[in-house]
Amino acid sequence: MKIKIKTMKEIADYFFALYIKQRDNFTCVICGSKAKPQCGHLFSRQYINTRYDESNAFCQCATCNILHKYNQYPYFKFFLEKFSKNKLDNLYKSAIIKLKWDINFYLGKALYYYNKCDKINNDRFLFFERRLNKYDKQIKNGGYERIPKKVSVKKQNKREDKKGNLVCRKGNKKASKY
Ligand SMILES: [Zn+2]
Repeated sequence: MKIKIKTMKEIADYFFALYIKQRDNFTCVICGSKAKPQCGHLFSRQYINTRYDESNAFCQCATCNILHKYNQYPYFKFFLEKFSKNKLDNLYKSAIIKLKWDINFYLGKALYYYNKCDKINNDRFLFFERRLNKYDKQIKNGGYERIPKKVSVKKQNKREDKKGNLVCRKGNKKASKY
């Protein structure tokens, strides 16, 4: 069975989030609440280079985590009080580095945080633990095949004619270049 990068990302996210929450004693660093602890990212998870950076993630209650989307001041204030502006600058520089990560990157992060977190005995933990062990073996045995990216429908339906004009496959109508 093929393993999707997205699946390995989910596993890495789970163990990283668990580690962060355990490190911060399941207490929101912003308001001190222990209700619905989550792993909150200062720079959003869309920045892959700092998605698993321990200085970019802290335990937040669900409310503070959601509020961060609309008001980033409290979280940045917390960070600057705990660390320094220099550290924030470096974190930002790191966040905006764009690289293409492969499945081994996510497997590496998943294994690292699996080993670093305290093992717990609940269904969710055991579910991710089983998946990690299974995929780790599979990838190391070379059983991972890259799944090609789907070509968008737009691209499929357009081609260039002899003069270099873009034409639609269906109906051969002239298509816009843009
Ligand atoms: Zn909170």
